[in-house]
Amino acid sequence: MQQVDVIVVGGGLVGAAIAWGLRQQGLDTALLDEGDVAFRASRGNFGLVWVQSKGLGAPHYQRWTRASAEGWGGLAEGLASRTGLACGLRQPGGVHLCLSDEEFADRSDRMARMKAEAGNHGYEYRMLDAKEARDMLPGLGEGVVGASWTPYDGHANPLNLLHALHRAFVGAGGRYVPEARVTAADAAPRDFRIATPAGDFAAPRIVLAAGLGNAELAPLFGLSAPVRPQRGQILVTERTTEALPMPTTTIRQTDDGTLMMGDSHEEAGFDIGQDPAVMAAIADRAVRCFPWIARLNIIRAWSALRVMAPDSLPVYDESERFPGAFTANCHSGVTLAAAHAGLLAPMIARGALDAGMEAFSARRFGSLALAEA
Ligand SMILES: Cc1cc2nc3c(=O)[nH]c(=O)nc-3n(C[C@H](O)[C@H](O)[C@H](O)COP(=O)(O)OP(=O)(O)OC[C@H]3O[C@@H](n4cnc5c(N)ncnc54)[C@H](O)[C@@H]3O)c2cc1C
Repeated sequence: MQQVDVIVVGGGLVGAAIAWGLRQQGLDTALLDEGDVAFRASRGNFGLVWVQSKGLGAPHYQRWTRASAEGWGGLAEGLASRTGLACGLRQPGGVHLCLSDEEFADRSDRMARMKAEAGNHGYEYRMLDAKEARDMLPGLGEGVVGASWTPYDGHANPLNLLHALHRAFVGAGGRYVPEARVTAADAAPRDFRIATPAGDFAAPRIVLAAGLGNAELAPLFGLSAPVRPQRGQILVTERTTEALPMPTTTIRQTDDGTLMMGDSHEEAGFDIGQDPAVMAAIADRAVRCFPWIARLNIIRAWSALRVMAPDSLPVYDESERFPGAFTANCHSGVTLAAAHAGLLAPMIARGALDAGMEAFSARRFGSLALAEA
């Protein structure tokens, strides 16, 4: 039995960011991860560090997202200095393109409400008419009637981020344990014992960050994580000399010059297949936004499963029955990586979530959460 200060279950972006943050707090941390058969949103996502559409009707989520976007530069610098790996972070601002007057009206309304809800925390944005949008993004199609813009948005290389988090964690003395699927646990307040095929671990604290796996794990610890899979498909083009100066909600240019296009929101259970009709719709919208994209070949395409709570917001919790056990789930693990490493991990290291985190508790789902627990 290996005794550590804290066990983190799940080595995707959420678990790895939290484990890195806990290690930086000086905690002896074991990061237990399933094998390669696992569903891994962290290896199939779009790579946006995105603020502008996050948290309508949930200003606490808007602030959490903003705080993470603001902390991302520090996270990337810290990881680069320790690992030599660049996360490719760029935060030039971002736009959401509207292809009809109706879309533009909906977007204007949404952005105005986001600003109102932000109160004196502030929320800077502009609605751009077609000409302004064209000046900002050369090559925009005639069908684009306008766009919303905020200065907060950006993007990064999510695979490098995952790699850098793991490398930094292990380099700082963290214990990464692959092939360690957790299926059962002995849980008591501040006393958790886990047997895995890769060894047995005990700790006074445990963080469940197993993505979709949390739905089954959380009840073992008196917690609830009513998350479901939601499929997203992504297309990647060959490299191009055309330049996209900033990311849009559905099209971004990587450091290599390829374009990523996506992503869909499909209720397909655990099916990670691809649907040609959805792929065609993604490509069609991209070409209407930027007609020159039609000249490019698609060289890769995949689908992956988001980790979705019923209201799409993150779930962070501490067990009332077994203090010391925490959950962490979200559908924007790239964007929130800095908050997970720099804000959430210190709370867990201190032994309790801050009072302001109560709004993220699965208790907000009431009887739904209890039924699923
Ligand atoms: C198509 C798509 C596009 C996206 N685009 C963006 C974007 O642009 N920006 C953004 O911020 N986010 C985006 N996301 C979301 C982001 O990818 C996820 O929020 C993030 O990857 C979730 O990370 P995770 O660690 O919770 O889950 P995962 O990456 O799924 O990792 C879960 C880990 O837990 C392990 N595990 C599971 N069960 C167990 C168990 N019982 N025992 C041990 N280990 C276990 C698995 O091995 C796995 O490594 C996108 C997602 C998708 C699918």
